[in-house]
Amino acid sequence: MKVVNTPFEDNHIHSINYSDGMSTVDAIVEHAVRLGRTKITITDHSDAAVERTNMRCLTWRGFSRGRYKTPSHIKGLEVRFGVEADLLNAEGDVSAMIGEVEYDKFAPDQKPEFTEEPFVILSLHTPYVYGRNLSEANQGFANALARYGSQIHCIGHIYLKAYGSGFDPLKVVEAANAERIPIELNTFYMNGNAVDPGLLREVMQTADQIMVNTDSHTLHDMEALESGFTYLESLGLYLPQDYEQNLEIPGQD
Ligand SMILES: [Zn+2]
Ligand SMILES: [Zn+2]
Repeated sequence: MKVVNTPFEDNHIHSINYSDGMSTVDAIVEHAVRLGRTKITITDHSDAAVERTNMRCLTWRGFSRGRYKTPSHIKGLEVRFGVEADLLNAEGDVSAMIGEVEYDKFAPDQKPEFTEEPFVILSLHTPYVYGRNLSEANQGFANALARYGSQIHCIGHIYLKAYGSGFDPLKVVEAANAERIPIELNTFYMNGNAVDPGLLREVMQTADQIMVNTDSHTLHDMEALESGFTYLESLGLYLPQDYEQNLEIPGQD
C-alpha cells in the first residue's frame, strides 16, 4: 500500500505549548474530535528550531503525555506526542529533542520513560535551523538516514521551491525508499504556492510510501487533510477502497 495513513489520521501538528502553533494541545484535541479524526500526533519543532527562531516551550512535555493517556472525553481519538526533528548539517546530525527540561530538571541522569517510541518526522528548515548551504543537504539526509533510519518515521516537505536547485529531493526519496520510510505529502505546502507542482508530483510518484499530513499551525490548517488524499487519488496513487476493511469510522464501535 502506497499511502500509509488513513484520511482520519494526521501526524504533523504544531501547538503553542511547545513551538510555533497558534493553538493549545487541548484546543487541537477538541478540534480533532470535531473533525472525526481517529489519530493525531502533536509534532512540535525540535529544540534546535525552538532555540534558533525564538519560539517558546511553555509546558513540560511530561504533563501532556499524562493528560491524554487515558482520554475518556476524547473517545475514538488516539493522541500521540512526537517531534518534527531537524537535519542540522551535512554529517547528518539531527535535533530530535523537545524540552530538554524534562531531562535536566526532573531526572538529570536518566532518559525520560517513553512508553512508546516517539514519532519522528525529519525535516529540513532553512535558513534558520539548517543554514544556507543546501548543496550539502542531500549528503546530510543520506547520512542521517544511515545513522538513524529506524528511528525516523516520515520525511517532511522536501519539495519546497525555497530549497532551490542545489538540493535534489528525488535523491532523498531514493534513500527513504531504501530504508522504507514514508515521504510526507504536506497539505499546507501543497495548497499554497511554496511548491513546484511538477516536482511535488514527481516526488509522490517516486516514493514507495506516502504519509499525508497537514503540518497544522492553526485549527483551520487541520481541515486540509482530505485534500491530500483527493490529490493522490487524482494521480492514481490512492484508492479509497484500500481502507474499507480496516477503517475505524468515527463514532462507531
Ligand atoms: Zn512551525
Ligand atoms: Zn517543517
